[in-house]
Amino acid sequence: MRFFCLHTITKSSSASADKFLLRDILAKSLNLQTLSLREVSFLINLSGKDLWDEVFDTSRRVKEKVYGKRIVLFAPLYLSNECINDCLYCGFRIGNKKAKRKNLSIEEALEEASLLAGRGYKRLLLVTSEHPKLSGIDYLEKIISAIYENTDIRILHVNAAPMSVEDFKRLKASGAGVYQCFQETYHIPTYRTLHPSGPKSDYNWRLNVMDRAIEAGFEDIGMGVLLGLYDWKWDVWALIAHSNRLLRKYGFGPHTLSAPRLQPAEGSGFTGSKYAVSDDDFKKIVAIYRLSLPYAGIVITTREPAKLRDELFLTGASQVSAGSRTSPLGYLNDSDTAQFEIGDKRSLDEVMGAIANLGLVPSLCTACYREGRSGEKFRELAEGQAIKNLCRQNALLSLKEYVEDYASDKVRELLTKRLEEEAEKTGNGIFEKFKLIEQGKRDVHV
Ligand code: SAM
Ligand code: SF4
Repeated sequence: MRFFCLHTITKSSSASADKFLLRDILAKSLNLQTLSLREVSFLINLSGKDLWDEVFDTSRRVKEKVYGKRIVLFAPLYLSNECINDCLYCGFRIGNKKAKRKNLSIEEALEEASLLAGRGYKRLLLVTSEHPKLSGIDYLEKIISAIYENTDIRILHVNAAPMSVEDFKRLKASGAGVYQCFQETYHIPTYRTLHPSGPKSDYNWRLNVMDRAIEAGFEDIGMGVLLGLYDWKWDVWALIAHSNRLLRKYGFGPHTLSAPRLQPAEGSGFTGSKYAVSDDDFKKIVAIYRLSLPYAGIVITTREPAKLRDELFLTGASQVSAGSRTSPLGYLNDSDTAQFEIGDKRSLDEVMGAIANLGLVPSLCTACYREGRSGEKFRELAEGQAIKNLCRQNALLSLKEYVEDYASDKVRELLTKRLEEEAEKTGNGIFEKFKLIEQGKRDVHV
């Protein structure tokens, strides 16, 4: 199914007209309304440093209006790099004959998850390559129930190959939170060239994946394009068009938009230099996502370098990975083939300290998934600015747990200071709830 026609990317005629139009668009985003595709096109083509500074500032304000100061942290857990596809840009592709292959056993996955839980993570993103026999739905079900039953991990999201409605129903029933899948590129000729064989070569099977996930009961879906495969302006626009279509059809669009940017990968058959996305453009893309879909979580991974990530924490990002490894068994022993190179090598503890230093609040909260705040309900709460108050309390409660159980001596003092500053402004009996945590109660949330 084709869901959009190529929209004419508009450009207004003069600098002053640009300024007026921009102000209208920024006001609309600040009012937490989803932007139209014409407005998205306008932002994509905007030029002028002053105007972009206004965009970045508004992006920060929109993020704070929806989610407050909290930034949620997670880690990916790579289960398998055995893959039957040949995505030219990926280190796991079947054509990479030098790759060291590994498919975690249930016990190994559990060991990795326990190690991460021991560092303080509460949410993990299970990531797997495509291999129906080795890492299909039977395998995912077993891994998910083993991790929930045996560790303190509270929510597992999944980034795995597109499935049938029946398999999605099983994945949902196993307790997966967000189902995440990236279209990579919406540009069909580029998609065909970069995905020459395997099930992923079927563009439409991937394009319709979220419709099948939603039909199976998933209300929290995560979408994205792999920036650097094709002209980012085209792909970013198409991703937002796809999101808006889902929003119109189901009453909710993506719970998260991820901004993965192409990284060098060992054994990759694609350099992609023609469409490489600069840091400046990357910052613009994050702001465009934030302004276009104000309620959506914007995810920035450790693909990006630390300095750039710190800037993005302040200009629109709301969820970030930290302390990541991108190979199966990568946390226990770093020897198997990684999917791509990591840009930000800081540990969870260090990233939490960096977020606190920026005047923000690092959060390990998982409350919404377990309280049924998903899909349309979540969007309405976010757009009505009700999520912010829940996030504020839950971020502090999860941070308090982290300080009690996991923080290093190096960051404990800093995090405690941030907790006190923010708790003073929060009310809602937060100090009583802190007491409960000090007395040993865990998973206190609202
Ligand atoms: N195998 C599944 C798939 O392809 O949908 C899911 C897991 S795949 C490991 C997760 C994502 O990693 C892909 O969707 C792709 O966007 C991203 N990725 C692959 N190669 C990459 C690279 N060289 N740099 C950055 N991200 C990459
Ligand atoms: Fe396999 Fe996913 Fe890598 Fe493609 S992107 S080769 S499907 S792991």
